[in-house]
Amino acid sequence: MPIKEPKVSSQDLWQDLRMADCGFFGGLTKRSLGNMKDVQIRTQGLLKIPELRGKAPRILSQVHGTKIFHAEKKAEKIPEGDGWIGREQSVLPVVLVADCVPLFIWSKKSPVFGVFHAGWRGLAKSFAYIAATEMQKIFNARAQDLLASAGPHIGACCCKVGPEIKEFFPAEDFIEDKKSLRLDLNFETKNQLLRSGLSEDSIRLSSECTVCSPGYFSYRNGEAARMAAFMTAGAQKED
Ligand SMILES: [Zn+2]
Repeated sequence: MPIKEPKVSSQDLWQDLRMADCGFFGGLTKRSLGNMKDVQIRTQGLLKIPELRGKAPRILSQVHGTKIFHAEKKAEKIPEGDGWIGREQSVLPVVLVADCVPLFIWSKKSPVFGVFHAGWRGLAKSFAYIAATEMQKIFNARAQDLLASAGPHIGACCCKVGPEIKEFFPAEDFIEDKKSLRLDLNFETKNQLLRSGLSEDSIRLSSECTVCSPGYFSYRNGEAARMAAFMTAGAQKED
């Protein structure tokens, strides 16, 4: 009898189980798996997850932009950009986040997927819209076959912004009261995905706030550590 290794639990990993239903494995690592900015912790932490064994994580040099790379394409240096798309089982594209939106998009009809880093700066450049439309173009995927998920990120409860941010987003994205002006990244992400042709019921938005929830690293809380949002196709079945 092979020894069964302990499975990584929901304490360690945030997941949208719809990914597994479509043959993908993805998620967002939590605080308990460590600072994923550290290459050693990242490699070892992700390898604790049985579904990821044998896959080498790839990261980006993130710039709050809108550039997307093919996870299968080899590169001499770390590509500068904020999104990955892929279709092969061997690849494990990762984006690093702490408060920014980890955005996942995948197809329910073909093994194509993407994982994206979308903070307010990226969303101000319509990155969720660009990510979903690029996937349709590059993979010849129909919008109605795509599903999307925004993982835990800074919630509207904590996303205080200055009035100078107002020019980047529609007024409906903001919650304003006497005390503060706050930006709702979920609302903006959803609207961009809808604009790209995805249907309302294909989009799921996590309401877990990385600032309020102790299980996550938070940039707003002054933490330098990052969590890994990753996605891969055709996760290995356990023996
Ligand atoms: Zn919060």
